[in-house]
Amino acid sequence: MKRDPEHKKNLSRRDFVKTTGAGVGTAVLAGLGLKEAQAQSRLPHWDKEADVIVVGAGASGLPAAIEAAEHGAKVILIEANFDVGGHAILSGGNVALGGGTSRQKKYNVEDSPDMVFRDLTDWSVVEPNGFPDYRYNDKEIIRAFADNSAPTYEWLVAHGVIFVEKAPDGAGGTADGNSAPRENHAAPMAWPQMQTGKPVDPAIAATDSSGVGFIRPLEVAARKAGVEILLKHKMSSLVRGEPSAGRILGIAATHESETLHIRARNGVILATGGSSSNVNFRRIFDTRLTEEYNGVAGEPYSFQDASGELAGLAVGASLWGAYNDAGEFGLRLAKAGRIGCQYGYRNLEWEPGSPIFHLARARGLLVRNYQNVILVNQVGLRFYDETQGSYTSNNYNSLRPYTQGSYLNAADIKYHPANFLDAALAGTGDAVNGGGPIWAIFDGNAAKREEWTVEPPYVDIAEGYFFSANSIAALAAAIVNKYQRRPMPGAALENTVARYNSFVDDGKDADFGKPAPKYKIDTPPFYAAWAMPVVHDTRAGLRINAKCQVIDFSGNVIPGLYCAGESAGGFSLHGLARCSVQGRIAGKNAAIEAS
Ligand SMILES: Cc1cc2nc3c(=O)[nH]c(=O)nc-3n(C[C@H](O)[C@H](O)[C@H](O)COP(=O)(O)OP(=O)(O)OC[C@H]3O[C@@H](n4cnc5c(N)ncnc54)[C@H](O)[C@@H]3O)c2cc1C
Repeated sequence: MKRDPEHKKNLSRRDFVKTTGAGVGTAVLAGLGLKEAQAQSRLPHWDKEADVIVVGAGASGLPAAIEAAEHGAKVILIEANFDVGGHAILSGGNVALGGGTSRQKKYNVEDSPDMVFRDLTDWSVVEPNGFPDYRYNDKEIIRAFADNSAPTYEWLVAHGVIFVEKAPDGAGGTADGNSAPRENHAAPMAWPQMQTGKPVDPAIAATDSSGVGFIRPLEVAARKAGVEILLKHKMSSLVRGEPSAGRILGIAATHESETLHIRARNGVILATGGSSSNVNFRRIFDTRLTEEYNGVAGEPYSFQDASGELAGLAVGASLWGAYNDAGEFGLRLAKAGRIGCQYGYRNLEWEPGSPIFHLARARGLLVRNYQNVILVNQVGLRFYDETQGSYTSNNYNSLRPYTQGSYLNAADIKYHPANFLDAALAGTGDAVNGGGPIWAIFDGNAAKREEWTVEPPYVDIAEGYFFSANSIAALAAAIVNKYQRRPMPGAALENTVARYNSFVDDGKDADFGKPAPKYKIDTPPFYAAWAMPVVHDTRAGLRINAKCQVIDFSGNVIPGLYCAGESAGGFSLHGLARCSVQGRIAGKNAAIEAS
C-alpha cells in the first residue's frame, strides 16, 4: 500500500504522543509546533485502528471494504445493525450496470462508457410532469460511474454474485438511461431472505432477482479478504485534526452504550445509505415529507438516518445535487402498494418468519386494483383519481425514438400530471406542512374481490393502522392514530362515500376523473386502512469528486474522507449500480492514496 512519506512522518509523531500518553508540553518537546501539539492533545485515545474504516455494510460499504482490503489495507467495516446488508439486502437485486459488460456483449447489446455518460447527463429527457431525470447530474461523478460501470459488473461476478442467465433488460430500472438495456438481476440462490426468514422456492432460486443474492456473496468475499466486520457498531462522529481543517483521523462509534474511537491511518469511507429516514434532513430537500410519511422502504430493518451526512457536515463537508432529491421522478417517493400497515412499499412484504417481523408488525394488504378502494385525507375527503400512479422515470425504451441530446426528446413528451403524489402531499388546507394521513376506505365486498384477510398478521390493528365498523360514520369515529391531527368528521366521510357511489351509478367521476368508477362502497363491514406514500431513495448527499473524496464548502478535498452510495450527492440513478461502483472507487482510493 502506497503512503506518502510526509503522511508517515506525521503519523509516527502522533504515535509518539499517543504511546507516551503525553500532553501539549511533551508534544512540543517531541518536535511538534505549538498549534499541532494543541491539536494532538485534543485527540481521543484510540481503542482500535486500521488503514481504512468503512461505515455501513450495504451496497456501497461492502464493495468499498473488499476493494480497500484487496489493495493491501487493513480494513474495519462497522455496521449499526445486527446484520449486514442495509437496504440492499431487501432490494429487488436489479443492478443497472452497462457500458459494454460481458453479458451485454454475449447478447449483442451495443453499449459503451460514452453512451452511459451521455445517457445519464442528457439534458433533453423530461418526464410527462415536466421534471428532467438527468439534467442536474454532476458530470465528473457520472463520468467516473460510466467508466467503472462494466468493470464493476465483472468485479461483482468475480466476487461471487450470480446474475440470472439472460440478456440485460429494463426491469427494475429508474433513471438508468435510454440507449441500452442495462439491468442485471442478482439470483437469490439458497440465501435466506431478511423479509421472510427463508430462502425462495428452489425452483426460482437461479431465475428470480433479490438483494440477498447481491449482498451475501459480497459479505463472504469481504470476510475472505480479511475485512474485520463489527456489527452493532454505530458511528457517531468523525475525528478531524482540527475542527474544520486537516486530515480525518478516525471515528467515534457506539457499541452497547459504550463509546469507542477507531483510528483510520488512511481514511474513512462513509457508506451509510442516505437520509430517507431522517425527517428533518429529508425536509431540507422537500418540505412536504413530514413525520407521517413513516413507512420508509427498507425500514424497519435498515434506517437511513443521515448519520453519515451529519458527521460529514460537522467536519466541514458540503452537500451536493439537491435537485435530484426534490425532483419528481423515479422512486424518491412511491404510492403505497400495501395498505393497513405502516410499511407499505409494494415490493417489500414482511412475513411472520422474518427475524424482525415483531418490528414490522403486519404484512399489509396488497392492492391489486385501486377500483376497490377510495382514498381520503384526514378530514374524510377524496383528493385524486386513486388509479393514478407514482412519478415515472426514463429508462431503456421509455422514449421511442430516442436520440441522445435531441430537443425532440423533450418536445415529444406530452404534459400529464399523471400521479397522485402531489395531491396527496398537498394536505387539507391548514397552515401545516405534510398531507396528513391518507386512508383507503372500502367495504366487505371489496375485501372479497381482492381476497384480503382483514385481520392480523395482514393488518396492524394494535398500532392504529387499520379500523373497521358497521357504518361509515362509526368508521370515521374509530380512526385514532397519532398522525391524525383531528378527528375525521363522520358526516364528511358519509358524504364522500355517498357521492362516490353516485359516480358508480353515473359511470363517471365528476370530481377527479377516475375512469368509470366500478364498485359502490355500501356493504358492511366498512374498513379504513393506512395508505401513505412511501419514501424510498435518497439522491442528494455529501459532495464528492470522481475519486469519491468528500469536498468541503470551499471546494477543497477533505483529506482522508470518502463517501459512496445514497449518502453522496450529484447522481440521480436509483440503487445498487451507483452504490457498488462508488463503493469500489472509494475503497481503492482510500487504500492507495492517503491524500
Ligand atoms: C425494498 C427495496 C428494494 C430495492 N430494490 C432495488 C433494486 O432492485 N435495484 C436497485 O438498484 N436498487 C434497489 N433498491 C435501492 C438500493 O437497495 C439502495 O439504493 C442501496 O442499497 C443503497 O446502498 P447504500 O450503501 O447507500 O446504503 P445501504 O445499502 O442502505 O447500506 C447502508 C448501511 O449503513 C448502515 N449505517 C447507517 N448509518 C450508520 C452509522 N452511523 N454507523 C454504522 N452503520 C451505519 C446501515 O445500517 C446500512 O446497513 C431497493 C431498496 C429497497 C428498500
